[in-house]
Amino acid sequence: MLNINERIGNSAFYNQIIGLFNFIPFWALTKISFALSQIRRINYLCIMQLLDGVLVSAHIKEQIKQEVTEWQADGGKQPHLAAILVGHNPASEAYVGSKVKHCEELGFGSTLLRFDTGITEAYLISEVERLNNDENIDGILVQLPLPGHISGDAVINSISPAKDVDGFHPISLGKMLLGLPTFLPATPYGIMLMLEYYKINTSGMHCVVIGRSNIVGTPMTILMSRNANPGNATVTMCHSKTKNLKDITLTADIIIAAIGRPKYVTADMVKPGAIIIDVGINRIDDPTKKSGSRLVGDVDFENVAPLCSYITPVPKGVGLMTICGLMKNTLLAAKNAKMVLS
Ligand code: NAP
Repeated sequence: MLNINERIGNSAFYNQIIGLFNFIPFWALTKISFALSQIRRINYLCIMQLLDGVLVSAHIKEQIKQEVTEWQADGGKQPHLAAILVGHNPASEAYVGSKVKHCEELGFGSTLLRFDTGITEAYLISEVERLNNDENIDGILVQLPLPGHISGDAVINSISPAKDVDGFHPISLGKMLLGLPTFLPATPYGIMLMLEYYKINTSGMHCVVIGRSNIVGTPMTILMSRNANPGNATVTMCHSKTKNLKDITLTADIIIAAIGRPKYVTADMVKPGAIIIDVGINRIDDPTKKSGSRLVGDVDFENVAPLCSYITPVPKGVGLMTICGLMKNTLLAAKNAKMVLS
């Protein structure tokens, strides 16, 4: 604390400094102001850290591989994931292909069941039930979206909660809500693993989640507000009917964007120093690319990144963490099954 004399002394000093500005022409003042704003910008640039999905997922996959080796050395069975793919949606094909490839990489078994778009809901559910009763299968995932004539909810509800490694079943979501041990939805789980890896202490932060889907936005709000670390945040959930979204995001210490709209979160919506988690995966036209398109997130990365303290890129961010969440759940399912059987 300054004593009263120092305060008077300082204010006299400041008055002298301010007085100097009377002699500086206006054009020079604008240049100084611009230079200061650039220094501030560079300052943010210096402190921004990329939340690197490649780095973190490699670390977690190494841990999983080791755990599988130890588990099998102790007599545990090889974890086995069954994936169901209906139709030929190119994005779904790519996601399922990547999950099967990761199973091979981590020493898991995998089964891919493919069905034509015309499959009936009843037949699909009977196939899920067959997998529920197959002791060799530990985890079941049904790649969404399903064709319009099939109820995604009905199919997800038919998965045995013991094999629900995507964490979408009402029992899994209910247990998560109550803080009971369960399979966490793979994407929110992956995001929590990333925050944990970078030792980001979210306690007391204001976290704004944009999007309220059952698979990302809603579970994210639960996990970020629970009494744990990461967690203990004060959470605001936003959606398409939210008024004055920008006013809300400007108060956020963390923004988790799960909207499905390319570059929707712009620099003017972000408080300097905020943490940005970009869940969105959107394909936009890009004539400079051989394929004519590229993937972008829900955040305008180029303009937001210089402002924030941490940010996930798209691709190579949250998507890779989702796979980690799924694989950790599958290993857990295999271990739980052993406990039930023995
Ligand atoms: P979704 O089911 O379509 O939900 C989108 C949410 O965004 C809805 O709650 C919607 O609000 C909200 N929204 C839409 N427009 C908005 C606006 N203008 N302002 C505020 N909120 C708005 O999508 P999702 O399944 O959660 O996926 C979101 C994005 O994440 C997609 O790009 C998806 O591809 C991607 N994703 C990525 C991963 C990964 O591993 N990286 C995993 C899953 C999904 P209403 O509820 O009011 O309609």
